[in-house]
Amino acid sequence: MTTASRQPADGWALVAGGASGIGAATVRRLAGHGVHGVVLDRDPFPDDLAGWETHVVDLGDPQAIDDEIARLHDAFSAPRLLVNAAGVNGSASSAYDVDSHEWDRVHAINLRGAFLLARDVLAWMRDDGGGSIINVASQLATAVVRANPHYQVAKAGVLQVTRTLALEGAADGVSVNSVSPGIVTTPMTDRVMADPEWTRDRLARIPAGRFAHPEEVAEVIVAIGLLETSYLTGSEIVVDGGYLLQ
Ligand code: NAD
Repeated sequence: MTTASRQPADGWALVAGGASGIGAATVRRLAGHGVHGVVLDRDPFPDDLAGWETHVVDLGDPQAIDDEIARLHDAFSAPRLLVNAAGVNGSASSAYDVDSHEWDRVHAINLRGAFLLARDVLAWMRDDGGGSIINVASQLATAVVRANPHYQVAKAGVLQVTRTLALEGAADGVSVNSVSPGIVTTPMTDRVMADPEWTRDRLARIPAGRFAHPEEVAEVIVAIGLLETSYLTGSEIVVDGGYLLQ
């Protein structure tokens, strides 16, 4: 395998959760580099994903992931890049509020779905000459706040999913890394950002003094996704304006 064969520009990209926020910014940025592919998400999709196919898939449903991979497999050779950006935040203000239904809902999408999709695409890339997988984790995979502990546990799991799959893929030219954003202005954070007390508290913890734009995270995802080397693998790249420094 030549390193050049790993370039997404030579192939195509798959972006899970590409209909909104960080995922959509990643799709647009890849398109700017001439890279196109398939977006997996729930309805609706924005209109400005020109050049990309959009497939409706519930990534919390293992059967739906299996079916989608089988459909893609019939139509294409393996993508050169998978960005695993689908996710939901939780609806609990403390650990005492997390019932088993809420735990399962968040873990089904953020952890199990991310694992199953990355695992299936890893096997496909292994058989087709390598590639790159980027899982979107969070600063809350490492830091802890008093809200949505099940989200934080799931994101910590995403880091270990990255490492276990990186170990599997290393000999076959498949790199697997995590990008961990800080707090980003997307639809996921709309509701909490409407609360001035929350905003004041969180801003005070960010050395950069501001929240991130989704494009700033997408820029890092695409930079890693377009690397020719597969020697960067199993790593977590933190994009948090310095949050984890203190
Ligand atoms: P977002 O809500 O804008 O985007 C998330 C996308 O995932 C949406 O398009 C949504 O439809 C999709 N999705 C959710 N459940 C799905 C399902 N069952 N099947 C298919 N698609 C599904 O949020 P975002 O902020 O862009 O989040 C992207 C990723 O970044 C998530 O994994 C999130 O946990 C992570 N993250 C976000 C922040 C932040 O502050 N916004 C911080 C750290 C990590």
